[in-house]
Amino acid sequence: MARYTGPACRLCRREGKKLYLKGDRCFNTTKCAFEKRPYFPGQHGKSNPKKLTQYGAQLRAKQSMKRIYGVLESQFAKYFEEARRRKGVTGELLVKLVESRLDNIVYRMGFAVSRDQARQLVNHGHFKVNGKKVNIPSILLRVNDVVELIEKSRTVKTIQSSVEAAKNRGTPSWLDIDFDGFKATILRLPNLEETQLPLDVQSIVELYSK
Ligand code: SF4
Repeated sequence: MARYTGPACRLCRREGKKLYLKGDRCFNTTKCAFEKRPYFPGQHGKSNPKKLTQYGAQLRAKQSMKRIYGVLESQFAKYFEEARRRKGVTGELLVKLVESRLDNIVYRMGFAVSRDQARQLVNHGHFKVNGKKVNIPSILLRVNDVVELIEKSRTVKTIQSSVEAAKNRGTPSWLDIDFDGFKATILRLPNLEETQLPLDVQSIVELYSK
């Protein structure tokens, strides 16, 4: 299935919750489209009274998570299989897997305003992992891996302004971010609560267990 390229805010309205796809704009109640129009998109959006079945709710939980992390269906299914294969709580392991994607780490480091932008920056070769240039946003990183902005990208305006905003916002406790060195080390991967995202992993586990 192709990647969705339409308006991001429409996805939040479709899912009936904020998915935080547009960086700082999402935290501004006067600019967030979902805060202004908290109903389904489209002509009959306001009058859409559909009550979700249990299956429908589980499906929406999966769609929301895929949309937040910008992951396609087949890749998401692979993450779930991998989480199920590993020892531990499947839902928590699923969160750790998607959080370990390079594009997500770049976003969490504060070098991009959104995961979408982070994906683009990685695609364009702005980052190194453990000293090697990498341009695959979906690669999964491990604890102690170091992500670094390449030298010639350190003057790119969009990256600089993202970094300034991140410095003011505060940084995740699971990353050791060295803003002056333009790099971050992964100390650990976050648990569900630490992601601060509206993820219903329990419903996703139930959906895949059918
Ligand atoms: Fe969703 Fe609001 Fe962010 Fe748009 S601004 S992506 S509606 S949370």
